[in-house]
Amino acid sequence: MSKSTAIVTGAASRRGIGRATAHALAAAGWDVAILDLDEVAAKETAAEIASQHGVAAHGLACDVTDETSVEAAVAELERSAAPVGALVNNAGITSPVPFLEVSAAEWDRVFAVNVRGAFNITHRVTPGMVERGFGRVVFLSSVSAERGGGVFGGVAYSAAKAGQLGFAKALAREVGQYGITVNSVAPGLIDTDITGGALEGERKAKLIEGIPVGRNGRVEDVADLITFLCRPESGYITGVTYDVNGGSHM
Ligand code: NAD
Repeated sequence: MSKSTAIVTGAASRRGIGRATAHALAAAGWDVAILDLDEVAAKETAAEIASQHGVAAHGLACDVTDETSVEAAVAELERSAAPVGALVNNAGITSPVPFLEVSAAEWDRVFAVNVRGAFNITHRVTPGMVERGFGRVVFLSSVSAERGGGVFGGVAYSAAKAGQLGFAKALAREVGQYGITVNSVAPGLIDTDITGGALEGERKAKLIEGIPVGRNGRVEDVADLITFLCRPESGYITGVTYDVNGGSHM
């Protein structure tokens, strides 16, 4: 594979899925671009990846909800990085608010990151992939989209994550002819900051009782699958949703 950059949004979170994915992609030979709200954290993550894996790694401030911010980050990559071959739509926020309490503003806030944010950046990078005849797009959905809510996701989160699934499938149909695949990964309970206190003490033991493999998920469980989907050899896999949930939802 000639040098190609994989963008991972929301990849600066210390214990997050995005950061583990950026590491796994770099270990597989991709140059990576870490896009996140905090520029310092994004740059630190990129420096750590470059030194560990010997690839080019770019850390850029980017708020995916803001088209101007997305434009600035992607334009910077077009000037300074290898062409974008993969995009992992990982930036996400949750919202545990029950339906009877959720406000319209909260609903919009959750959709702004998970759905509109994924639209903003996918819309910006896809034309280049079409031109080059190659692309891999992966969305981070959630088991909450499939089973309806869950430990840390309420109605807005579940609806937004289900929205991503439709987005991914419709896009897969449209862009397959250009060598671009689009898939979704739906993690179950993965131990990161987003799960908050859900994985502590007695609550953790109770949650794990419902997981056939007997443990919570690790970021590497998700990162490995995403890296597999981004391989050039995975070009016949598109429009699929992959569960990574230890069997908690089948
Ligand atoms: P995390 O909170 O550790 O990471 C989320 C990252 O997104 C953070 O670095 C945050 O700064 C970034 N982000 C938030 N808003 C942003 C914005 N507007 N622009 C750019 N970046 C932004 O969470 P995580 O658990 O690593 O989650 C990663 C993805 O996986 C999310 O989409 C989440 O919904 C999904 N997911 C997680 C789990 C889980 O159990 N951890 C389960 C299912 C799905």
